[in-house]
Amino acid sequence: MKDYKRILVTAALPYANGPVHIGHLAGCYLPADIYVRYQRARKSDIKFVGGSDEHGVPITIRAMKEGITPQEVVDKYHAIIKESLAAMGISFDIYSRTSNRVHHETAAAFFKKLYDEGLFEEKESEQYYDEQAKTFLADRYIVGTCPVCSNPNAYGDQCERCGSSLSPEMLINPHSALSDAIPVKKKTKHWYFPLQQYESWLKEWILDGHKEWKNNVYGQCKSWLDNGLQPRAMTRDSNWGIKVPLPDAEGKVLYVWFDAPIGYISATKELTENWVDYWCKDDTKLVHFIGKDNIVFHCIIFPAMLKAHGNFVLPDNVPANEFLNIEGDKVSTSRNWAVWVHEYLKDFPEQQDVLRYVLCANAPETKDNDFTWKDFQDRNNSELVAIFGNFVNRSLVLMHKLCKGKVPPLHKDSMDEKDAALLKDIADAKTRVEESLEQYKFRDALFEVIDLARKGNKYMQEKEPWIVARRLEENPSAQDLIDNSLHLCLQLTANLAILINPFLPATAKKMLHMLKVVEKMLDWENAGKTNLLSVGYSLREPQLLFRKIEDEEIKQQVEKLKAGLIKPAADTTPAAAAEPVSLKPSIVYDDFARLDLKVGTIVKAEKVEKADKLLKLEVDLGFEIRTIVSGIALHFSAESIVGKQVVVVANLAPRKMRGIESNGMILMAEDKSGKLHFVSPDTAVDNGSGVS
Ligand SMILES: [Zn+2]
Repeated sequence: MKDYKRILVTAALPYANGPVHIGHLAGCYLPADIYVRYQRARKSDIKFVGGSDEHGVPITIRAMKEGITPQEVVDKYHAIIKESLAAMGISFDIYSRTSNRVHHETAAAFFKKLYDEGLFEEKESEQYYDEQAKTFLADRYIVGTCPVCSNPNAYGDQCERCGSSLSPEMLINPHSALSDAIPVKKKTKHWYFPLQQYESWLKEWILDGHKEWKNNVYGQCKSWLDNGLQPRAMTRDSNWGIKVPLPDAEGKVLYVWFDAPIGYISATKELTENWVDYWCKDDTKLVHFIGKDNIVFHCIIFPAMLKAHGNFVLPDNVPANEFLNIEGDKVSTSRNWAVWVHEYLKDFPEQQDVLRYVLCANAPETKDNDFTWKDFQDRNNSELVAIFGNFVNRSLVLMHKLCKGKVPPLHKDSMDEKDAALLKDIADAKTRVEESLEQYKFRDALFEVIDLARKGNKYMQEKEPWIVARRLEENPSAQDLIDNSLHLCLQLTANLAILINPFLPATAKKMLHMLKVVEKMLDWENAGKTNLLSVGYSLREPQLLFRKIEDEEIKQQVEKLKAGLIKPAADTTPAAAAEPVSLKPSIVYDDFARLDLKVGTIVKAEKVEKADKLLKLEVDLGFEIRTIVSGIALHFSAESIVGKQVVVVANLAPRKMRGIESNGMILMAEDKSGKLHFVSPDTAVDNGSGVS
């Protein structure tokens, strides 16, 4: 193994068009953080960099839907993501963003160097163009009917209803998502990175040189390399992103997967003026933590770019995780089938460590795994509470009861083989945890920590100091046995604090407080030692490290998850036997004329607390802004409907819902599957326009 002087750890750049969910945490942020905290405790020279990925088509689409600028989209989600990760204890040295100036300069310079060396192939190709909006349309900008399931809103690269992977040519009635115009084919020029030229080098570097990489990572690389690499366009036609730094490149930006990984370099530059040490010196160990969907970019494309550029270190390892499913089903952000980190933090305040524990104990390290709320509860109650927390609590309670609140001495001449075995368990645990962490086997490492606590419980159960205490009157020398067992249990507790610290940092902190020791004790070199707490030192009263999680809390979470699910619109094939249509009794025109219908624009939307179905809307009716409470929260997210024009029953008598006065009603169409759709004018009209 190579001798490294410093370590640089990166964690995948989350895409700034939505918040992070627990799959993101389990996939890369948590393992990266555990590794970094462990290395910091070892006093390694280590930096941990990350940031938001803020370019790319989905951000411009979201901006369009929400009627705001792409910058406003990324500002909003960058803040949410950054806060969620920090609250979960993900301890980046810097969490930056790719819209920063430093990054724009760094990525443009990177591209320019490769260009100046004549590396790129310039190629013209025909792509869809919107003559009305005067812009080329990336796949996501083209909408049409899915040839597979007839969804009228399929994208040029994918149908979100049936999941089919598409190309713009496959769509029926393709039209521009920007202007609705029918797109035409037009020539455009792009710069292609000749990946195929790096194929044999990559084979040697990965397939021969990195056989130690995880099977899932190595296997995916091998299959890419076996299939042969193709030139890949590194530019796109768009106005959102890093401008291609060439004179004849108006309206062209760098491909998001060209610029994003360079973000790791830019972030390091922002962090330290010694960034060159971390990126350019051979004795740096570069480790990329990512999810499996990013393997090709981090193991093949980015290393080839670094190699082509020269002067940069290559990753030593890319310990990618597989996916975490939720309650047996794949995470889907469009269907809202996810456990969002910011919502977890609201529902389980001060319980970050429980989620960290469950996501690590059940990490999808070698295959896709399933997160269930039941498992969350079980692991908390039967492992954190019953094993770890219980051992720590009993050790301290008994020490206060039987040893006057002070660390008792160890009487060597009364030690027995059980005591000796426990000492060995403590020393062995350190070695095992360390070995697993060095190999990125975080589940195994965590298991060893819990196993040590389990051994502590067993030891205490066998020693029964509280039973021994009953014999004290007739046999005062029995105090030696009590002292010994509690002395060892307390030293074991101190070891548990050190070993659990990379995984559950808040828990380790609480333990420090109870043991009245400084943070220095958590230095990794102290693990395995059994003289961490001095004899005669008085300790604080214990506080419980973990609380039991009740069935009711779990039930609520499962219900919340199910209630939030946005069902895919049912397929449009006509039902075999149509249901008979029933109409309400007829009315005269005057009945209808009593309704005052107006067009308005939703200018603000937010969820109503403790009401899963309700959204509180502010609707601009031209002459005033109305508050309307609408029961559409299961069908639309608040963010997705701002800017939408709707038809409002403007003279409906006010009505209080959940304490909020609702002044009007929004017209909705309900399709056969029960999904709601807005009734909107087919082109934008002035707010306040009448409907009749
Ligand atoms: Zn489809």
